[in-house]
Amino acid sequence: GKVDNPYAGAKGYVNSEWKAKAESVSGGSRISSNPTAVWIDRIAAINGTSGSSSNGSMGVRDHLDAALAQGAGYIQFVIYNLPGRDCAALASNGELGPNELPRYKAEYIDPIAAIQADTKYRNLRIINIVEIDSLPNLVTNVGSAAGATATCDTMKANGGYVQGIGYALNKLGALANTYNYVDAAHHGWIGWDSNFNPTADIMLEAARASGNVKNVHGFITNTANYSALREPFVQPTTTVGGQSVRQSKWVDWNQYTDELTFAQAFRNRLVSIGFDSGIGMLIDTSRNGWGGSARPTAASTSTNVDTYVNESRIDRRIHAGNWCNQAGAGLGERPTAAPATGIDAYVWVKPPGESDGSSKLIPNTEGKGFDQMCDPAYTGNARNGNSMSGALADAPISGAFFPAQLTQLMANAYPAL
Ligand code: BGC
Repeated sequence: GKVDNPYAGAKGYVNSEWKAKAESVSGGSRISSNPTAVWIDRIAAINGTSGSSSNGSMGVRDHLDAALAQGAGYIQFVIYNLPGRDCAALASNGELGPNELPRYKAEYIDPIAAIQADTKYRNLRIINIVEIDSLPNLVTNVGSAAGATATCDTMKANGGYVQGIGYALNKLGALANTYNYVDAAHHGWIGWDSNFNPTADIMLEAARASGNVKNVHGFITNTANYSALREPFVQPTTTVGGQSVRQSKWVDWNQYTDELTFAQAFRNRLVSIGFDSGIGMLIDTSRNGWGGSARPTAASTSTNVDTYVNESRIDRRIHAGNWCNQAGAGLGERPTAAPATGIDAYVWVKPPGESDGSSKLIPNTEGKGFDQMCDPAYTGNARNGNSMSGALADAPISGAFFPAQLTQLMANAYPAL
């Protein structure tokens, strides 16, 4: 049977393809032996690709075999190829159009499930991180919402995300040694009252579509994002000059200010509406360290709530809605099992140094568009409070290796390297 926490007492698989990229950068050997997730971001990645920017020649079976050879206890895959993928952005649009759910099932999920079911892998804990940045878009970027898009409206109406995830959870959750963790965005996306419960509800809808909510072993927050793990000086209960920090421009009435409190609260909500009481959370800490000289070491003494928050917060982004190649970011906590109540692990799911999207249009044959949120000169939209993007310049397309970013992530690591 499945264990409660697949990360506990087990050594993580180190992806040699990512390791080689990390070690191509000066100082990279300090971090290259950490486990990172293997992203299966297209059908071709199942057997390994040549000529893709994000994957190498190793396919799912190669990685599983390498995990056995390493004597690893667990391996992490990211299932990331929904029809109409990345409906509110352009940088990670995928290969399947909005109506290609049948191909997702037959050409993507089925072959992955078949490989994972090979009995030679039965003693390996196979962790599947399911579909980043998908279901929350059906809550926040549809209908009359300020950031609504036509593709998100379509994916809500045609059921492609809910049914696709339901199918994935069913097929991939069937084995005694596979563990599904569903993406649950991050506090800076669904921490508001208007988004929190409705997002939990749509998670339940997808889990039920799988036939059994127990196909979900847990959830992951902050995947490929930059939200701080803890904000010691800015908690929702903090007051400044008689005003709650929730009134500040940065917090903007959110009920949460960091990932740890958000993940724990979201877990409680999910259990209360029908998920198994044993579910555990993962937090992606690959790029949320925010160390270096810009990191506040004490609370501000200002009595102006905006000044206080801006001088005290660990997260140094211009706006919490910024998500692309954030300047000043650092590596966060190293992968760790069972670090806090309700948390199965801190993980590095986004491989550090892989781009979130290109800074300008780069023609490519991988389906990757250009999103202005990756342009350092962009002045923003409704989803980021019409703020500057905060993105690094000269970035390659999403998934491609971006050495300058890895150098900065290492320099600003917290804990420091
Ligand atoms: C990209 C994928 C890539 C992943 C990990 C995503 O943003 O779209 O191609 O595999 O990041 O770097």
